[in-house]
Parts: sequence; structure tokens; C-alpha cells
Amino acid sequence: MFGKSKRDKIKPMKADALISEIGGVNEKFVRHLLTLNIRTIRDLFFHFPFRYDDFSRVVPAAELKIGEVATVSGVVKRVRSTRSWKRKMAVTEAVVADDSGGVRAVWFNQPFVGKVLKPGQRINLSGKLTLGKNGAYFSAPAYEIVGGNGRAKHTAGLVSVYPETRGLTSRGIRYLINLFLNRTEKLPDTIPEHIRKNAGLPEINDALRKIHFPESPGEAEEAKKRFAFEDLFLMQLASLSEKLKLSQCRAYPIEINAADFKTRLDSLPFELTASQKKSLAEILNDVARGRPMNRLLEGDVGSGKTVVAALAALAAADNGFQTAFMAPTEILARQHFKTLTKMFPHFEGGIGLLTGSEARICYGHDLESASTKAVVKKEAKNGHLKITIGTHSLIAKGKKSTGLELNKPALVVVDEQHRFGVNQRQTLASGKKTVPHFLSMSATPIPRTLALAVFGDLDLSIIDELPKGRKKILTKVVAPENRNKAYDFIREQIKKGRQAFVICPRIEQTTDDQRPTAGNIGKFPAAGRRTPANLEIKSVKEEYEKLSKKVFPDLKIAMLHGKMKAKEKEEIMKKFAGGKIDVLVSTSVVEVGVDVPNATIMMIESADRFGLASLHQFRGRVGRGEHQSFCLLFTDSVFETTRKRLEAVSAAKNGFELAERDLEIRGPGELLGKEQSGLPDLMMRALKNAALIKEARREAEKIIAKDSSLKQYPLLQNRLLKFKEKIHLE
Ligand code: ADP
Ligand code: MG
Repeated sequence: MFGKSKRDKIKPMKADALISEIGGVNEKFVRHLLTLNIRTIRDLFFHFPFRYDDFSRVVPAAELKIGEVATVSGVVKRVRSTRSWKRKMAVTEAVVADDSGGVRAVWFNQPFVGKVLKPGQRINLSGKLTLGKNGAYFSAPAYEIVGGNGRAKHTAGLVSVYPETRGLTSRGIRYLINLFLNRTEKLPDTIPEHIRKNAGLPEINDALRKIHFPESPGEAEEAKKRFAFEDLFLMQLASLSEKLKLSQCRAYPIEINAADFKTRLDSLPFELTASQKKSLAEILNDVARGRPMNRLLEGDVGSGKTVVAALAALAAADNGFQTAFMAPTEILARQHFKTLTKMFPHFEGGIGLLTGSEARICYGHDLESASTKAVVKKEAKNGHLKITIGTHSLIAKGKKSTGLELNKPALVVVDEQHRFGVNQRQTLASGKKTVPHFLSMSATPIPRTLALAVFGDLDLSIIDELPKGRKKILTKVVAPENRNKAYDFIREQIKKGRQAFVICPRIEQTTDDQRPTAGNIGKFPAAGRRTPANLEIKSVKEEYEKLSKKVFPDLKIAMLHGKMKAKEKEEIMKKFAGGKIDVLVSTSVVEVGVDVPNATIMMIESADRFGLASLHQFRGRVGRGEHQSFCLLFTDSVFETTRKRLEAVSAAKNGFELAERDLEIRGPGELLGKEQSGLPDLMMRALKNAALIKEARREAEKIIAKDSSLKQYPLLQNRLLKFKEKIHLE
């Protein structure tokens, strides 16, 4: 890559240098690196391997065994490149020998190997010995000419494997990283030394070398732990500084009159559960203080979060303050509007609905009426309307915003979207001296340590029981041979007037080859490994065809998926909710909150493709009415472990139990959802490590307590700023 004569004159490079501007780097490499989002040398250093191939077993050629992975170190005896005329493929064959004997190596379609290898060279070959027609051979082994200084990079040890891109292999990435590690100025360490020592973590430059070129598995672990800690630590610093900032802001104090409040509770059609009461008390206690609340209310689907949030909003209204109440979709916003107006028919404070397609107002006595967006906005701005319900566009910044302004914005409630709104709440209070209280609600049961790691700035309230008298949903894992029986059962239910959901993992069949890439890394157990379980993954379009033409030609079947327009989706959901559709075949888009009490069957295809917590969420879509509900889990998986895992869904007491298991089995990505996928990969994995999370929290607390603005740690201060931008905290 660099001309030989230039090589010795090169000064150490800056880590922030753009690779495109370093003379001598092949333009093609630069382009490939860009597709991996690598611009600077630093970016390249932080492109971490997702696994290591273990080639550390070096054996004499004579001791190689078929099927075993090993390294042979010897001398090239001969090299021959031919073209197989049948398949028009370049074939390179080499024989390498040591004192014990020789071994043959064959590479297909890698003609450059034939150009690089020369008889007489001392090389390593690493790979698996295979038995072919002409005897045993190494099939496309990793090769490396040895004799230079330093340890081998591609063979004879732990060899890092990276997210790749077409045209740039792990070998190329290793080559570049090694080259730059040797020619770049040392990076300053953002983790203060005393913290590094306390936590037993290696220094940054040391750790970089160890993560890319470990001498042992222990070294790789040590380095991974360091980088994971670094991210967790930054996350905690971000949370704690955010918390501190908020604690210095003012908010409208929301106080309650105990007697009036009791009357309101008594007028509810049901008694709150113990955990609803506890959560409500935590919320009311927070909002009374005149400092902004920052709270996450977690509870299973159907545990009754809405009423808790509504009671807080009503308390704000009693004090003359206003609430913005946000749902992820228009359907859910309308549902919340209906729920609130029905549940509190005597509330005269004014409840408004403001979405892209609808505007409504209700001033008590259940007399809701259609209105216009302009009127709703005006009533909100002049303070008459105490609760405004809408989608996230209510407080989104920029173009999507509905431009809602409130006179006294005291509370922001966000349903089913964890992080959204924490900062956007400010938009409602522009030009005001106070910051609204913030209450986020989530049906994703996030285990406590995970919540601490990712939402460390939010306090947590948990509803861990369902209201009394709910019928348990009968859950069954259905074996393939019982599929027809299950269809008969569904037909029977529909004849009785019920409705069914059928959930499939995919919209349509695809041929994507499941290779890990930069984008999906971490989602696959091992590179490109196919299991019988992922050979057939059910798709909405196929199942829709099958069910509507063959299985239930006499019933009304519809489909729903993410590629449909929002309007179409809403239309279908409306029809389903209105009983005009018998069976709805859908992807996971139905996952959040829609209430169809008449739907009693949740049938999930290729259930093994979903996390347990997701399955639990789907199941929560049924069992909302008076009839007994059922959840049928289908899988073609032949693995006993898969079936066992699915059985856990029927045995679990609540979503938290399943979430803990998901965290162990599939990691936090599943639980946190897509919007969190901006988190660094190593950190995602570190989120399973409760001890490390707590340690990061402790160290962050100590440092913030001493020096909240991090004045003494300018490097850290700077890193934190960038980190906050990355996770959208700033
Ligand atoms: P989620 O927590 O999933 O948002 P909802 O707030 O939609 O749950 O509540 C689900 C249903 O349970 C609603 O119909 C609600 O009126 C009802 N509900 C809430 N709390 C109770 C309770 N304590 N007792 C009986 N029913 C309740
Ligand atoms: Mg809800």
C-alpha cells in the first residue's frame, strides 16, 4: 500500500486523519471502508471483530487430522494455478511441507494466491483438513508468509473476524488495522487512570491491540470488557448529568386534594390494583415537588397503565395545568381519547384529540364532538383544554410537528416509546421557566439492571400484576402434525363470533442469505450457519394466500404489514376492530396496544423466530374481553430446546420473567427494540453484565459528585458530548 521508499519516512499519523487523505491508500479500499462507515483511522480502530477464529493449534503436517482445525508451518514446495475448464474457475494448488511431511492446499477463485505464493517461502496455513477425491487437503486455508517480525496476523493464533463488505475481507481489514496501529500516534485514554485501575481495565492502546490481535482468549475478553465498560460508563455519566441538570430546573408542582382524589378513584368502574396504587403514589409524589419528574412506568400489556397516567393528568388539570398525552399511532391516540372520555365522563377540564387526520374535543358528559385542528390548537394554547392526546408529532421537533402550544404544560405522557420525548418535552415549554414532568409508559418489561443501564436518568415504577378476574390466556405450542386441528378450532371460534390474529415473522419470502454484515451483526449465532429452523420462515403474503384460498375460503381474511401505507393499515385495523374481518394475518406491526376485545385467538407462525418477550406482547393482544382467549405457537423447529423455550411462554407468570430469559438467550437488542439499535454493539452485549453495569454506575456517581461538569477531565467531557449526540440525549 505504501511505496517502499516512503515507508521509513512516514511520521506517526493522527488518529483523526481521514483515511482518504492519507497518500498511498488504495482508492478502492477507501470506498469499501466508507460503506462500513469508516472514515478516520480511529473509526477503523473501533471497527471491532465479532468473533475470533482459533488457529492457535500448530501441528506437524503429519499429525493433521481430517475435520480438525489447525495450523501448519512449513515451506512452499510447489504452486500451480489452473483453470477448471468445466466450471471456468481458477484453481490454485500448493504443497507445503515441514520436517514431518507435506500437505496440499487448494483455493478456488482466488487467483491472486497463486501470484503471492512462491516455492521456497516459509508460510503458515490455517484451516480445516478435508478429505477429497485425491486425498486430504486444506480447503481455502488462511495463509501467511512468515519470517518478518511480530506475531502472525492471519494464522497460527486467534484471528479476528470482522463485519465485512463486498471487496473488503477480514484479512484486508486486519492488514489495515495492523498497519495503522504501528504508524499512528498513541490515543489518549478517556477513562481516568484511577478508574481504570479500580476496575482492572487495560489502557486504551493496549486494549486496541488486544481486541484486534489477542495472544489469548483472556486478552480478548479483557479488551472487550474495557470497551464495554467505557460505553456503560459514558451512558451513566450522560444519565447522571441529565438527572442533575433536571434537578436544577423548575416544574409546576401538582398537588392533590385527598378527598377529591378519593371521590374520583371511587367513581372508577374498578378498584386499582396494589401495584397501580403504588405506581400512582410514586408519580404523584414526584410531581408534587416542583422539580421535573422523569419516570418510566412499566407494566405488562393489559396491566392498566393508561388509567394511572390519566389520573396523573387529571391531577394536573385540577391544579389548572395541562398535559400532552402521546401514543405511537393514530389508532392508539383515538383509543386513549375514547378511554379517557368514557372513564371520566364528568371531567369538564376538556380533553382534545389532535392527529394528522382527526381533531376532537370533549368537555365532559361524554359529549365529544368533531372539531378542527385549528380549534383544538387554539383551545390548547389558551389553556382551556387540559389534556391533549395525539401521536408523537404533538411534540416532535421540525416538520412533523403539529405545532401544539400549551399555556401551562405541566406533564408529558408518552405511551410505548421509551426514549422519545425526554428531550422533546422542552418544545412544549419554549419560552417558559418550567420544564414539564415526564412519564413514559412501556409494556416491554425491561429488567431493572438493564433499565438502569439504558434509562439511567429515568426513575422506574413497575406494575407487575394484572387486574383481578382476568381469564388466563390458554397458551399451547402446536406441533406441525396438529396444524389442521388448530385450523378446525379457529373455525369453530369464528363460528361463535370471535376473531383471530395470525402473526408471521416476514412480509414475504426472501432469499437473503443470512450473512452477518455491519448492519445485522449480532443477530446471528455464527456466520452464515443455517439451522433447520430458519429454512422456512412463514410470511404474511403466503399465509394470507393460503388461508383465504384454501383453508378458510368462506371467511373474511385480511392482511397487515409494515410496507402498507399508514392509511391502509388504519383502515384494516378499523375494520378488524369493527368485526368486519374474521382473521387478520399480520407482521409484528400489531404488537403495540390495539384493543380488540372480540379477538380471542392469537396464532403465531414460526414462533421460534420471535423473542419470548415479543411473544408475550402478541399474546397480550387477545384476552381483553369477556371470552376465553387462546394463544397458539407454531414452530417447525426440530430442536427440543426451541420447544422448551416456547413452552416457557405458557408457564411464565408475567412478562418480566420472560424478559429476563430473553436477556440471557438473545441479548438486550430484542427487548430494547429498533430505536435503540444505535447503541454500540459491544455495549449491547455488555448489557447482559449486571455487575459491570453497576460498577460503571458507581464510578460515574463518584466522579459526578466530585466534579459534575467534568472540568478536571476535559477528554472525558469531550467524549461525553459526542456520546450524547450519538444516543440523541442532547
Ligand atoms: P396497558 O397497561 O396495556 O396500557 P390498559 O391501560 O389499556 O393496559 O388497560 C387494559 C384494560 O384494563 C382497560 O380496559 C382498563 O380499563 C382495564 N383496567 C385497568 N385497571 C384495571 C383494574 N384495576 N381493574 C380492572 N380493570 C382495569
Ligand atoms: Mg397501553
